[in-house]
Amino acid sequence: MTIQIDTDSLARLRASVTGTVFVRGDAGLAAEVAGFNPTLVHDPDVVVAVTSEEDVAAAVRFAAENGLRVRVQATGHGGGLPITDGVLISTRALDEITIDPEAGLATIGAGCRWAPVIEAGSEYGLAPITGSSPHVGAVGYTLGGGLGPLSRSHGFTADWVRAFRVVTADGEIVTADDTSHRELFWALRGGKGGLGVVTSMTIELVPLKTLYAGSLIFEGDSIEPALRTWVEWAQSAPDLVTSSFAFIDVPDVEFAPPPLRGKFVLSIRFAFPGDPAEGARLASPLRESAPVSLDLLGEIPTTAVGTIHNDPEAGGPDWIRGLMLDSIDQDLADELLRLAGPGSGTPFAAVEVRQLGGATRRDPADGTSVGGRDAQFTMGLIALDPSTFAERAPERAQAIFDAVGGRRSAITNVNWSRGLIDPAEFTTTWPPAVFDRLAAARTTYDPSGVFAFGPAAE
Ligand SMILES: Cc1cc2nc3c(=O)[nH]c(=O)nc-3n(C[C@H](O)[C@H](O)[C@H](O)COP(=O)(O)OP(=O)(O)OC[C@H]3O[C@@H](n4cnc5c(N)ncnc54)[C@H](O)[C@@H]3O)c2cc1C
Repeated sequence: MTIQIDTDSLARLRASVTGTVFVRGDAGLAAEVAGFNPTLVHDPDVVVAVTSEEDVAAAVRFAAENGLRVRVQATGHGGGLPITDGVLISTRALDEITIDPEAGLATIGAGCRWAPVIEAGSEYGLAPITGSSPHVGAVGYTLGGGLGPLSRSHGFTADWVRAFRVVTADGEIVTADDTSHRELFWALRGGKGGLGVVTSMTIELVPLKTLYAGSLIFEGDSIEPALRTWVEWAQSAPDLVTSSFAFIDVPDVEFAPPPLRGKFVLSIRFAFPGDPAEGARLASPLRESAPVSLDLLGEIPTTAVGTIHNDPEAGGPDWIRGLMLDSIDQDLADELLRLAGPGSGTPFAAVEVRQLGGATRRDPADGTSVGGRDAQFTMGLIALDPSTFAERAPERAQAIFDAVGGRRSAITNVNWSRGLIDPAEFTTTWPPAVFDRLAAARTTYDPSGVFAFGPAAE
């Protein structure tokens, strides 16, 4: 539905911003809002491709004046539902990164992906605590908490945030940190949305140049013993090691690594931010669990952190579900082999289980609103073949969720759940007390609901 926007108000918006304003039908709108999943086509009433925090403030004030809801997009990795109304603020041009090497801080514009932050920090021997993919947006990821290849040693990325610059619902530009707007600061460290538009965030970097990290690839008869070893090993794995496994049905296409094309493999990922010899010692039970087809585990620069998971840089149609687990055991391994392992007829390109624990379970002293701190594992199911999206993927996912049964955690972190579009999952995305406190913070900072947030807003 096309709504009538006050032309004077639109003209004032255009005159007051340095970025570009698109209205529905304008050439360039579709390209500005194209995201990671090309089947998700957004067509909002107005798009403001902002170039400064003043632009963001003007866009928010314009939306409030015209009774339009505001959404934000950086890279479009967030998925969700097509956006068909309101104002979409596109932050991709807010791509400035400033490193303060003495203080060990990075200030990151809202449009930045992790890759350039990793590069910028590495010049000073400093690394951000990122997710698995360097192509995901740093701010959008961190607002949900952020779990990556160093989660067990370093916690959620939100734990490393020292300040946010934010445009609130009244168009005010504020700094939220541990001395000002403290409740907003708490809420943005895991609460994801409905609070404001973040224009930049400042995170603490860690002094780290190399990792003992990568993956071990198993095929055929090696898959089952390697998986069973990982499950056993994970029961007492050291907190400084972050590890995961994934069944991967590698497509026979050009972008897949040549030795793996068209094969079904088990990838065991491993990351240890310490002495390589100690890393090799810690990884030896996994390496010796079964004949390894491809050993990609060794000392790597922190700039190669994305090679641990090798998430695809290019997007495409996808069907993704996630949850968290309190435990894993050999009975669940049986079920995963049956439902998602070799020869199972799995519709999934990847079924992944990441181990949490260690630092992910410790909320920092100044507190965060991260959901899922009590969980021990994440599970992600990813289908890429659109012919499976209607039936085969949902049916097999349900069978896997049934097999998980009582091991499923009560809470699933917002970056894994469908809570923002599925009312049934919404309330289990944060623990009840955090959920209520976040709702109160949203009411304080956005009393009239300018920012579209949660399933009710879709
Ligand atoms: C390939 C892939 C790998 C991933 N890996 C991980 C991982 O390892 N760990 C993990 O925790 N998550 C992971 N995710 C999930 C990811 O963190 C979330 O989808 C995140 O929301 C993506 O943020 P974005 O800015 O890139 O995406 P976008 O789609 O641009 O934004 C997603 C949402 O973030 C919010 N947002 C973004 N920018 C702002 C802003 N400036 N102000 C206010 N709100 C904002 C909005 O609600 C927006 O709808 C992955 C996703 C994909 C597709």
